[in-house]
Amino acid sequence: MTTPLVECVPNFSEGRDRAKIKRITDAIEAAGGVTLLNVDPGMDTHRTVVTFVGSPEAVERAAFAGIATAAQVIDMRVHSGAHPRMGATDVCPFVPVEGVTMEECAAIARRLGERVGRELGIPVYLYEAAAAMPERRNLADVRRGEYEGLAKKLADPAWKPDFGPAAMNPGAGATVIGARPFLIAYNVNLNSTDKNHASDLAFALREKGRVARSGNTAPYYSRGKKLSYREGSFPCGSCTFVGKSYDEVAAHCTSEHHYDLGELLRSNDLDPPKVVGKNVYRPGLFKACKAIGWYVKDYDRAQVSINLTNFHLTPPHEVLEASRKLASERGLLVTGSEIVGVVPMAAMMQAGKHYLHKQGRTLGQPVPDILNTAVRSLGLTDVAPFHVREKVLGLPVVPAGALVQRTVIDFTDEVSRDSPAPGGGSVAALAGALGAALASMVANLTYGKEGTEERDPELARVAEEAQRIKDQLIAAVDADSDAFQGFMDALRLPQGTPEEKATRIRKMQEGLKAAVQVPWSTAEASYAAMQLARSVVTHGNPNSLSDGAVGVQIAFAGVRGGLWNVMINLKDIQDPGYVAEKRTACANLLAQAKALAEEAASAVDERLVGMIEKR
Ligand SMILES: [Zn+2]
Repeated sequence: MTTPLVECVPNFSEGRDRAKIKRITDAIEAAGGVTLLNVDPGMDTHRTVVTFVGSPEAVERAAFAGIATAAQVIDMRVHSGAHPRMGATDVCPFVPVEGVTMEECAAIARRLGERVGRELGIPVYLYEAAAAMPERRNLADVRRGEYEGLAKKLADPAWKPDFGPAAMNPGAGATVIGARPFLIAYNVNLNSTDKNHASDLAFALREKGRVARSGNTAPYYSRGKKLSYREGSFPCGSCTFVGKSYDEVAAHCTSEHHYDLGELLRSNDLDPPKVVGKNVYRPGLFKACKAIGWYVKDYDRAQVSINLTNFHLTPPHEVLEASRKLASERGLLVTGSEIVGVVPMAAMMQAGKHYLHKQGRTLGQPVPDILNTAVRSLGLTDVAPFHVREKVLGLPVVPAGALVQRTVIDFTDEVSRDSPAPGGGSVAALAGALGAALASMVANLTYGKEGTEERDPELARVAEEAQRIKDQLIAAVDADSDAFQGFMDALRLPQGTPEEKATRIRKMQEGLKAAVQVPWSTAEASYAAMQLARSVVTHGNPNSLSDGAVGVQIAFAGVRGGLWNVMINLKDIQDPGYVAEKRTACANLLAQAKALAEEAASAVDERLVGMIEKR
């Protein structure tokens, strides 16, 4: 049910003329299939950051429309603003959100770059994950010299654009296109109005750290005495070590603290090894983390304002936990946190699972429960509302008219009506889903109790796997009633000429094979549900014995139902090799499922008899 989702965040060099900005965003929306999430114009920067999401195909199309329109409405010859820039569309990153890899986003960037260069005559540089060479990964390096230095840059063979002409496009300048991780704008709220407290935490968290101090640094680091490098005295910012030379302290930082001192100093605008007379720096706790402290009037609170530039490396919940610890050492309290804009589902699921695990629960919970755990544990409603549907990107999509959206009464009534769908296939899928759900239930009820230590790993595995199988089978409830769509479409094809007749028959046959795949998947997944339910019959709480037993039997109905639906569709397929192969596969799966159903039933009966007789 998860559909691939990509975010695109183009920056346009127009922040003042609302009409021009609207022409660009109108073009993006008119390309179709994308949702405009945010338009953020800046007067001083004279620049607008636009954020939209959609399928990989849709964002690629919409980004091109935006770049083409920006080239028409913006003239770089008369542009000046406070932000570095070199083109009308200055930078255009693609960001994987859900069901898409970074490499797929880099491929979108390359395709778009080629098209922008060819059709619009704009020089294009690729950056970050799409960069063709390491010296073009960093946006600041690519943009150095800005629009004013662009003619000179284009003339330099080392800076030949990746796509488009190596010649000046005076109106549009050049565009930097690429792929990068999702940026999460994340604020941690303190029970204080003092900005200094927030700044102190920010410096301790962020990658570039802070000026190192000595003496009276605990718990308020800023009360210590600033350290600086002197001739023959090169203190380490992280401990009391003092090197005799820059090289000595740099080697110490690498071996003792595992960080690159040169990188740290450069991120603080120093020019190592020429550091004599300059401040010593101490790195923060997290990579890919930028942070400052501020006071927010609307909330009357001090906040640590954080940008997480790679949440796979540094996820929000880890930063929050560190903030809670640092705050408590300073007599402060973290009252909650805030997501500015949107957050990928993956980051929320990771946070939810982190806290579920710490709370002694299995990770086999329904997706909405995991997301709610994340919202509550991160304290995301502390200063503003947090509506999961609006704030989380990449949630599974269930169409409004889907069968699985109906109530149990309504669905059952729908099955009973004189229309052929939904029928046995959808009911079989639902049966399998319920079997998996029962397996998850018993595993979760049993897990983590007195005396279950040895069984806990298996129970945790069953709970998590059962959720996955359940969600797959829930999706199959609707997929089954749509399974014949291809066959139905083929039925309606014209049959005037012999060629048309042949095409129609070929398409009908293809439709039938596609219709076989859905119940086959239902049967396979239902068998997996049987195995999970069988496991909790043995490992689950004895009071839940009948729940596990029902799970095995109802999931067996899912296997049987799926296989019968495969067989009924096979009778009309004319490819004997395909039919023979499927028949063998069906026979094998049926034999396994039958044996498991019988064995599980006997085991349950035996234990129940034993329990009664032991009374
Ligand atoms: Zn040290």
